[in-house]
Amino acid sequence: MLPGAVHVSASKVIHCCHCGGPVRVSTRAISVSCPHCHQRVALESVVVRGPYSGRSLITCGDVLIEETGRVTVPVRAQNVTVHGIIKAPVVAIDTLNVASSGRIFGDVQAGRLNVADGGSVAGACRIVSSPRPSPAQQADGPARPAPVEAALPSTLPTTQHGSSAPVLRPVPHNPVRRPRGV
Ligand SMILES: [Zn+2]
Repeated sequence: MLPGAVHVSASKVIHCCHCGGPVRVSTRAISVSCPHCHQRVALESVVVRGPYSGRSLITCGDVLIEETGRVTVPVRAQNVTVHGIIKAPVVAIDTLNVASSGRIFGDVQAGRLNVADGGSVAGACRIVSSPRPSPAQQADGPARPAPVEAALPSTLPTTQHGSSAPVLRPVPHNPVRRPRGV
């Protein structure tokens, strides 16, 4: 934390890394209790150098995997930046950044995904704009045909009555035909 950088907004809204609910926290807090799921929400940012030996890597702060970092447990954080290697699923509630040296062997879910040239993600990618997608939107059912937006209107005001003019005339300028006097 930079000295003197305390006059920014005193609170911010984060999304609980357990339930996804919005939580207003002080910018200087290191953990809060989520009002939605009542779990402890760690807010510290974590930097991983070398092999990570913890059982899980879950924080509502940010996670930075340095080039030497090796993580084999699931990662869940607000923003995840990967310069090293993760061999586990990764969830970034906000943004997942995979640097050119970064490699992820596992499924990822993020609000935004940035992969630099050379970076790789070997797994399924799910980009979700909302931290709490509704189950209906996430159902993996058969894709329903979307309504065709550009459907031709079936009630064109055709003026076919009586005007059986041949249509083979080359008409360079197609004047606007107005239905006359009906
Ligand atoms: Zn929660």
